[in-house]
Amino acid sequence: MELRLILGDQLNAGHSWFRTQDAAVCYLMAELRQETDYCRHHRQKVLAFFAAMRAFAAALTKAGHRVCYLTLDESAPWPDLPSLLAAQLEAYQAERFAWQSPDEWRLASQLTQWASGLAIPTAEVDSEHFLTPRDGWRRYPHSRMEFFYRALRKQYRVLLDERGQPLGGRWNFDAENRAKLPASQPIPAPLTFANEVSDIDAMLTRHGVATIGSADADALPWPVTRRQSRALLEHFLAHCLPHFGRYQDALSERGWSLFHSRLSFSMNSKMLHPLEVIRAAQAHWQANQATISLAQVEGFIRQILGWREFVRALYWEKMPEYRRTNFLGAERPLPGFFWNGETSMACVRHAIRQSLEHAYAHHIQRLMVTGNFALLAGIHPDEVDTWYLGIYVDAIEWVELPNTRGMSQFADGGLMGSKPYASSGAYLERMGHYCKGCHYQVKARSGPDSCPFNSLYWHFLWRNRDKLGNNPRLALPYANWDGQTTEQQQAILTTAEHHLLHLERL
Ligand code: FAD
Ligand code: SF4
Repeated sequence: MELRLILGDQLNAGHSWFRTQDAAVCYLMAELRQETDYCRHHRQKVLAFFAAMRAFAAALTKAGHRVCYLTLDESAPWPDLPSLLAAQLEAYQAERFAWQSPDEWRLASQLTQWASGLAIPTAEVDSEHFLTPRDGWRRYPHSRMEFFYRALRKQYRVLLDERGQPLGGRWNFDAENRAKLPASQPIPAPLTFANEVSDIDAMLTRHGVATIGSADADALPWPVTRRQSRALLEHFLAHCLPHFGRYQDALSERGWSLFHSRLSFSMNSKMLHPLEVIRAAQAHWQANQATISLAQVEGFIRQILGWREFVRALYWEKMPEYRRTNFLGAERPLPGFFWNGETSMACVRHAIRQSLEHAYAHHIQRLMVTGNFALLAGIHPDEVDTWYLGIYVDAIEWVELPNTRGMSQFADGGLMGSKPYASSGAYLERMGHYCKGCHYQVKARSGPDSCPFNSLYWHFLWRNRDKLGNNPRLALPYANWDGQTTEQQQAILTTAEHHLLHLERL
């Protein structure tokens, strides 16, 4: 008997493990308190993972595999993964144990350490999901995502002509992908599912699992099967891809996912393979070039082939030290309004309330609204990480950490991005429509009613000058700051100091 462990984010039906049925192999899947409790998750996230795991176990059983699935009720006697595994090895009289490489450092080290003490043969196999190996940081050009991405475009022959050159003569159409959403632009209704998960919800309540955010257990909107994930992909291609790149940086209260795909949960749980998504997008664009420009599909593919693989490579190269980085020495606690959305800043309020309601915010909300605010306010990266790791349905540490600590908080000193993603209210006004209805004045740089993003932006640059002053990409903002009169600078800094003292009241 060989016992094979499948973790909750390893729902890869295409894995070579499943090519043949073998009565001497048993697949073990378990809902674990260790996983519900390592951080406080959004309720929809726990429901979606457990529902998807149950559906995957049922599909494996139907396909003729032998499966042992333990619900939270059944796994309750074992407080953590090692004790549960030890008990199951014993119960099945297993002669071998195998597991797929976990994506999280936390689980990888736990399993490796535990398995090293076993007397029976063990095997760790690849999860067969990513397009680069774990040590991709060393194998690909890694100084910037763009070079990493180009190498992968060539390796997987994505959007290339017959000479191996990028279609359209350019690798990157990012400059064309920064439009504000016009009021007249219709937004496609997001495709949601109505998965009935009230039994799981009741089980979470029974076990006292602490969660954040709201959930409708009669109609969980996230895809929990491969079939639903494929439907979401098809919906994205038909309705969102035609404008994906153009509006990928847009902010709007008119929708909660705009032209974004919401495929991150399906990919991070491995119900969808990234190459499958990339190839589908390329094929759909090829068949619809009259209505979809190259810039749209290139922008989408870059997120998956470029950013997704790049952050994973960075994560595995730099962990575990990465999760302690704090280059800017940020120390403030996260304001309470991150947990309830009660703030007068209209843009922040919308992003947080939407996150609590949907367990989702699109990239620009995460980066330029909530992340930008936390960066400017000097919130400790540990606190920012805890929030991002819990609140989003797609949040798994390998992808959350480099995005939060690195890209959004610049805590890694510039490994993810060459400069901090810091902006004043002007950027948010340019990309969104919140400012008109906001309590604060976006044009004002100082004074009690001035947009907090303005004074905090200058204060951020001013207080971090020793660390950021030599960054060539910040030369212009520093020159702008130096060009202001001492009185102007003093008024801005005084306003910012006041905001920083009273963050909870913003
Ligand atoms: P789309 O905009 O439709 O993009 C398509 C796909 O590209 C995504 O599904 C995702 O797989 C990939 N992608 C896009 N941007 C990135 C990126 N920067 N890094 C890695 N993959 C990317 N993504 C997560 O999957 N989990 C997280 O926990 C997470 N935390 C984040 C925290 C912060 C502070 C920031 C700034 C970004 C974070 N991201 C995270 C990246 C990105 O915001 C999400 O992948 C994206 O918003 C998911 O929505 P979508 O599927 O609609 O994406
Ligand atoms: Fe956000 Fe400032 Fe605009 Fe208000 S004024 S919505 S705080 S950018």
